[in-house]
Amino acid sequence: MAATARILDFLRDRRPEGPCLVVDLDVIAKNYRAFIRAMPATRIYYAVKANPAPEILKLLASMGSSFDTASLPEIEMALDAGATPDRISFGNTIKKERDVARAHALGVTLYAVDCTEEVEKIARAAPGARVFCRILTDGAGAEWPLSRKFGCEPAMAVDVLTRAHALGLKAHGISFHVGSQQTRLEAWDSALAETKAIFDALAHHGITLSMVNLGGGFPTRYLKAVPGTGQYAGAIHEALTRHFGNAIPETIIEPGRGMVGNAGVIKAEVVLVAKKHANDNLRWVYLDIGKFGGLAETMEEAIRYPISTARDDDPKAPCVVAGPTCDSADVLYEKTPYDLPVTLTVGDEVLIEATGAYTTTYASVAFNGFAPLAAYVI
Ligand SMILES: *Cc1c(COP(=O)(O)O)cnc(C)c1O
Repeated sequence: MAATARILDFLRDRRPEGPCLVVDLDVIAKNYRAFIRAMPATRIYYAVKANPAPEILKLLASMGSSFDTASLPEIEMALDAGATPDRISFGNTIKKERDVARAHALGVTLYAVDCTEEVEKIARAAPGARVFCRILTDGAGAEWPLSRKFGCEPAMAVDVLTRAHALGLKAHGISFHVGSQQTRLEAWDSALAETKAIFDALAHHGITLSMVNLGGGFPTRYLKAVPGTGQYAGAIHEALTRHFGNAIPETIIEPGRGMVGNAGVIKAEVVLVAKKHANDNLRWVYLDIGKFGGLAETMEEAIRYPISTARDDDPKAPCVVAGPTCDSADVLYEKTPYDLPVTLTVGDEVLIEATGAYTTTYASVAFNGFAPLAAYVI
């Protein structure tokens, strides 16, 4: 989504110096309501890592959202925002045992696991807790796939949850993440087929699972159109019905990008426009923000943000777009150059749109002395 009128007004009136993210809370409220409307039977656990600004967490907590967290500080942020511990999931499969103990002391009762070693930590540090086992998905169709780092082969989930049950934990359910910025609506279907097989195998051992965590993956519109929330909900509902018939379990989703991505715009500035030799046509456009200033998701040019300028009515030509730091990795788009106005010049402001997710949290602390990405939540 292009900048909202509220964001444009803010930038015009406040004229903040330096690159900054401006987030419009109205857009997040609208996204939250769209999820609720499309999936009324599903509980929403906002993935805090996408953007943990306190104003965002407070808004979502007040609207009834639950929270997917990955660390103790994220748990504390969700609690500070007004979420009760029963609305917090410790969803990282990689946790220190002492952090599990602290989460348990804070009242958190829901934990992700993907191996028996992690189950044993939770049984020791959070006795009686509910655990769900994350299974691998192939991430096909996702612009930011999550690889094999998280989750186990579906067949192993049976052992993991059987072990959890034996250790006095509540074997609660299965989770998966189909990959972030997932535009293939069918991605959930194969994961739900695997999930149902695990439900059946455990039922065979007398263990009844009750929850499916459908993860994140809901997209934000960047340059290309994406299906709407209703289409995702329809495809997921169909897949649930196909595999579970009329015994559909409790479901939760963990949207991050889809909740906040389109709510934010980064204002940046052109620092330099240069060419590499006299009769080169290709311009290099250097901005005051790059991979280390919050645009880490341009890694391998995975996420292509819409960039708008005041000169967009002028003819455009391909450019390499790069950040301001002294690291050669700090190039945003080069393999596939980016069309920008031929008149673009030093000092021009550019708006990098749909940057509400995975930007402030990815900014480095002070690489080359550049401050972390400033953010205004309005
Ligand atoms: C990052 C993450 C999410 C959010 O993913 P999006 O694709 O941004 O919606 C959800 N669940 C887990 C476990 C995650 O790690």
